[in-house]
Amino acid sequence: MADYDPENIFAKILRNEIPSTRVFEDDETLAFMDIMPRTDGHLLVIPKTPCRNVLDATPEQLANVMNTVQKMAQAAKSAFDADGVTIQQFNEAAGGQEVFHLHFHVLPRHEGVSMRPPGNMGDFDQIAQHAEKIKAAL
Ligand code: 5GP
Repeated sequence: MADYDPENIFAKILRNEIPSTRVFEDDETLAFMDIMPRTDGHLLVIPKTPCRNVLDATPEQLANVMNTVQKMAQAAKSAFDADGVTIQQFNEAAGGQEVFHLHFHVLPRHEGVSMRPPGNMGDFDQIAQHAEKIKAAL
């Protein structure tokens, strides 16, 4: 497996070198909105320390991230009055991973409503509004 690349896009977000819509953070983790949301309220949870994915993460990184994933799943479900929440996570290119800093997708879901196709840029103002709804539910 390749080494962690500190120039990956999420490392740049952590260093505030590129903008993001942050929703929650603690000492160990950050939650922010996905720029290509596959459902309303689609957000990402990452550790603040470097690792590529589940394959090289420490037990502490995984435990900290999962605590925040649960917190965000509960808040997003409440904020969007969702029926359920999909949590996705991909490991290495063959596993579907595109950004090589560990992240979990949190996607509020409604009964009978499919996820949108991947790769479509979201509307910035709408994403910001969705972030505010989730923050209010925290
Ligand atoms: P994955 O690695 O899990 O396949 O996908 C990476 C995810 O990161 C995608 O859902 C994509 O929309 C999101 N993403 C890629 N670049 C950026 C970015 O610059 N900012 C944010 N907020 N999300 C991004």
